[in-house]
Amino acid sequence: MGSYNNILLAVDFHSDNRSVIDKAVEVAEMNSATLHLIHVVEPLAYAYTDGMTTWGEEMVSLEAAIREDGRKKLDELCQELKVAGQDCYFRTGKSSEEIHATAQESNIDLIILGTHGQHGLQLLLGSTANSVLHGSTCDVLAVRIKES
Ligand code: AMP
Repeated sequence: MGSYNNILLAVDFHSDNRSVIDKAVEVAEMNSATLHLIHVVEPLAYAYTDGMTTWGEEMVSLEAAIREDGRKKLDELCQELKVAGQDCYFRTGKSSEEIHATAQESNIDLIILGTHGQHGLQLLLGSTANSVLHGSTCDVLAVRIKES
């Protein structure tokens, strides 16, 4: 048996995740581990700090379209990677918090995600990779995404 039994791959669909996906598949195979997938949709309201924004119909339908698109892409990736339905998690909330909660609920021992290698102001403002790393109770593998 390998070092890891349950690996959680966190995917967004707005950056080039392919190298991260390939690495997760490779590490899962090396460890004979079960691969799990998570995609989190962050509510558009999180983009506003006062929480007082009035939602028009356009915002509501934009949010619904983002959710539908994320769900569809996650399902497609699960099929491609042959990940069982119960190991595919589609969540709504703050990405790092949902990734932590899912990792704990599902006995994950390794989280794999991408990183753009932020520095300077970007690093101070934080990134998903940073937030996941700092609150995690299991190992985290951050795979560098090379800008094309
Ligand atoms: P970022 O810090 O937004 O550049 O994201 C870094 C990595 O965190 C991505 O390559 C994904 O692996 C993961 N990630 C970011 N956003 C999400 C999300 N909404 N759902 C799941 N994973 C995410």
